[in-house]
Amino acid sequence: MIQEQGGRGNRPVGDEVSSPGAGPAVPTRPHSQLRSSGGTPIALRNDCPQPVRGQGGSFHEMWRELRPIGRHPDTGGYRRFAWTGADGECREWFKAQTESRGLTYEVDRNGNQWAWLGDPAQGDAVVTGSHLDSVPDGGAFDGPLGVVSSFAALDELRHRNARFTKPLAIVNFGDEEGARFGLACVGSRLTAGQLTVEQAHRLTDGDGVTLPQAMEAAGYDPGAIGPDPERLARIGAFVELHVEQGRALDLSGDRVGIAGAIWPHGRWRFDFRGEANHAGTTRLVDRRDPMLSYAETVLAARREAQLAGAVATFGKIAVEPNGVNAIPSLVRGWLDSRAADQTSLDAVVGGVEKAAREYAAAHGVDLDVVRESFTPVVEFDHALRDELARILGKDPDLTVPVLGTGAGHDAGILSGSIPTAMLFVRNPTGVSHSPAEFAAEDDCVAGVTALADVLEGLACS
Ligand SMILES: [Zn+2]
Repeated sequence: MIQEQGGRGNRPVGDEVSSPGAGPAVPTRPHSQLRSSGGTPIALRNDCPQPVRGQGGSFHEMWRELRPIGRHPDTGGYRRFAWTGADGECREWFKAQTESRGLTYEVDRNGNQWAWLGDPAQGDAVVTGSHLDSVPDGGAFDGPLGVVSSFAALDELRHRNARFTKPLAIVNFGDEEGARFGLACVGSRLTAGQLTVEQAHRLTDGDGVTLPQAMEAAGYDPGAIGPDPERLARIGAFVELHVEQGRALDLSGDRVGIAGAIWPHGRWRFDFRGEANHAGTTRLVDRRDPMLSYAETVLAARREAQLAGAVATFGKIAVEPNGVNAIPSLVRGWLDSRAADQTSLDAVVGGVEKAAREYAAAHGVDLDVVRESFTPVVEFDHALRDELARILGKDPDLTVPVLGTGAGHDAGILSGSIPTAMLFVRNPTGVSHSPAEFAAEDDCVAGVTALADVLEGLACS
């Protein structure tokens, strides 16, 4: 059941949290009222951001409706994988939000959902939104915060009687996390032509189901997937609001930030090949144990990342024969590394590989290193970024730092085709892709207000 803007009749007793500085009227420039009086944001569990007062109060209702979808009862994490039942429920929710606001609902050729205010054919559209799918046992905010905030920001603008001079759209990009088919941002990649139809057809999940089969099973036509330049040509700006996946805002004491760039990042596979043998009868000196060189390489990755101010992670490993009483014949580890610039990233990965080769040689182990994926630095559009800073800078109580990020986003994919920008909302835990991912109620409100200000500045007279 979708409630109309401001409708609160169905909220269950006990589900509401007291509002800091609650007042009867909706401020038109409410940032200064978003600071809790005691200086400390009221911390909620990860699923109950505070309603935006007035028409923007729709935020809370929307959040409450989304909350149970795809949430695992034991872990509290979300399992909203592309084209599954939980994803379908999220999509139904998006459609209902669109229709309840009298917006025009559209699914594009790649399965991305759009809610249009105004005629897209007019061109120079302002688009906001994010994604609703999740990683395995992901948090509540990564993706949904951007989509829910987009609808709430539109409600806020309508409450302000904003006069739109450009078409506005809210989008839910499909399969952003890549949890099912192993490739992130499939919906936006296809749209931007960064993933070919042939490559998309080869994507297969763990059960052997291909992407087209999954789309078809979910009721979507996979025959139409492919680049969508006409759609992108109608968009003048895309702004994605996202929960911060780090602690920069928490450390700087700011609620909202603007993205500067997405760090270059990639994945490298390290294959250490030794000799399988009996764990009990093989003398230490006779062993060619690839686990030893792998373990030393993991430590080297940590060292190199620290030296470069970067990050490097071996988060996945495969061992053969994988027996508790067997010296491994193969240890395959995947390195994920990201850095603020290409030179630093090269230094980290080069340093790790050099160390790995030395360790492998010392243990009589062979080593192959394969780069499996790579994304160069993504600089967001400087003019749009400056415009966001100018719009948000009108509020004397708000400082909005510009942040780099190590995470990929649909906005990063689209930045190669259209001007894009991102807003980040403070996440005091810094944790993401986990149920511990978090944003405090008044920070979510600050995000909605900042997004509304930005959309008003970009799309209204
Ligand atoms: Zn995300």
